[in-house]
Amino acid sequence: MCGIIGIASNKQVSSNIIESLKKLEYRGYDSAGIATISNGEIDEKKCTGRVAALEKIIFKTPSLGNLGIGHVRWATHGAPSKINAHPHSSEEVSVVHNGIIENSTILKKNLEKTGYKFKSQTDTEVITILLTDFLKKFDLVLAINKTLEKLIGSFALGILFKKHNNIIVGARRGSPLAVGYGHNENFLGSDSYALKSMTNKITYLDDGDVCILSNDKIIFYNKNGMKINKRIQTLSSDKQTADKGDFKDFMSKEINEQKFSTKVCIKEYVNHLKKDINLYNFPIEPKNIDKIVIIGCGTAYHACLAAKHWFEELTSIEIETDVASEFRYRKIKFSKKNLYIFVSQSGETADTFAALDLCKKNEVKTCSVVNAVESSIARSSDFILPIHAGPEIGVASTKAFIGQMLVLYILALKISKIRNEIPKAEYITKISNIKKLPDLINKTLKCESKIKIIAKDVYLSKGFIFLGRGPSFPIALEGALKLKELSYLHAEGYPAGEMKHGPLALIEEGLPVVILAPQDRYYEKTISNMQEVIARGAKVLLITNEENNIISENIRFSIEVPKTDNQLTTFLITIPLQLLAYHIASLKNLDIDKPRNLAKSVTVE
Ligand code: GLU
Repeated sequence: MCGIIGIASNKQVSSNIIESLKKLEYRGYDSAGIATISNGEIDEKKCTGRVAALEKIIFKTPSLGNLGIGHVRWATHGAPSKINAHPHSSEEVSVVHNGIIENSTILKKNLEKTGYKFKSQTDTEVITILLTDFLKKFDLVLAINKTLEKLIGSFALGILFKKHNNIIVGARRGSPLAVGYGHNENFLGSDSYALKSMTNKITYLDDGDVCILSNDKIIFYNKNGMKINKRIQTLSSDKQTADKGDFKDFMSKEINEQKFSTKVCIKEYVNHLKKDINLYNFPIEPKNIDKIVIIGCGTAYHACLAAKHWFEELTSIEIETDVASEFRYRKIKFSKKNLYIFVSQSGETADTFAALDLCKKNEVKTCSVVNAVESSIARSSDFILPIHAGPEIGVASTKAFIGQMLVLYILALKISKIRNEIPKAEYITKISNIKKLPDLINKTLKCESKIKIIAKDVYLSKGFIFLGRGPSFPIALEGALKLKELSYLHAEGYPAGEMKHGPLALIEEGLPVVILAPQDRYYEKTISNMQEVIARGAKVLLITNEENNIISENIRFSIEVPKTDNQLTTFLITIPLQLLAYHIASLKNLDIDKPRNLAKSVTVE
């Protein structure tokens, strides 16, 4: 993870670096740092904690200079301390890094033998020392190449040089890096979002690329060291903005926004006049698909699990789901008749990207479901399905999850239609139901006042269990994950029918159990499982549809979501769980948008 920014300008850069770092904080927030070239010397400042702390330091002692790099860290090697914060500088160079240098221990040992001393525990510092050493013997470009050759692992780098005080070098292998073109200034950034306030002209580095940027030019080299030209893209302006508006935090804004983000997404994919879905030019003719494999991590993986049910219900295609970090190392039997779908909000998730890369090496067809359409995953896949959710800043995903499920559902419907597996009337009904989803989400959001009361009742509990069956099971997993992420409570998501095979032993007097029981074909079974936990003292929060006929005095709370198509109900039952996690974390006074130990865009393995 980590966020990198670099600016080469004809004016002072530190305030723009700070502003960009604030935007990059979603990628890492355990420490922050900046280095500028001031009076021919490298001026490095860093601190633990947030960019706001760094800003205060700079306010007292300004970082002067027209050239600078900045970093927000998500520690992989070495504690989140000031000494381990980036940049890592020597007399000659200053380096910011996103990624992991896997052979850093051996490189460090060898450099120590030749007399170099290390200040930090990071893997990154070996880059600083290696480069410093090579610069004694070689010219700039050769020294960079020699350094990069020694590194095993993944990196995006931003580098300043004391002796070449008008350039910043950027290099990429594995981790993402973008370049932005300005007027008398040029930029380096981990993503386009960080650069957007300064330019809308962007280029992305491909794997192995190196760039040398000054305020008036940018030179690119590819992985073979050849000078190359790159295509400049003009970024579109986001309809949904990335500020909190009147909301207390991004998460509450994003939960609320789901009524709009789904509308935007539906508008992009569904043609209500023609009663059809605008999806064409599939990389494989849907009638010929043997199997679909859907891959993601974390919340995105839960969207894959929900989609498995819809594809199975709507088509006869065999469906497999996998966690990207497992898929990438398994002995997969690839087939050209399979479609491999990758789900990632940022489109930069390292494990998902590696899994996609594996598919590409095996020459099979890939499709990506992403929020960031300019991302590495989007650019590398054969078919891109954007979720159109707008920027999601809260680290715990909400509107992107709903967007991912929505796009996968729409895809399942369209594939079913092309394969003639859904009756025409049913297809049309489902399409008109989709149109109602934003309104139904809006109605469901009204349960917030009740959720606040529930949160007060349960927030001191030591743990939670979330139960569901069928497509509600992935939502149980997601509900538990949201709670873990936000409130640091132990929470388990379980298929309701599995409880008796072990986890029932966890139930004790007063343990909160969230039961997801919409009125689908699993309803009766889930309700029986609910009775089993009630009988053992659980404090039950039942989430079901309106018009249910359950009367149980022992249900502590119940939330009823509007009645709709069963498949769309899966979306609605997600909302109360997002709100529950939000309000529990709020009562515990935790940092909602930036939970401890996490970061939004997981660009390390
Ligand atoms: N490995 C580097 C560190 O621990 C960078 C971490 C990252 O990219 O998240 O400082």
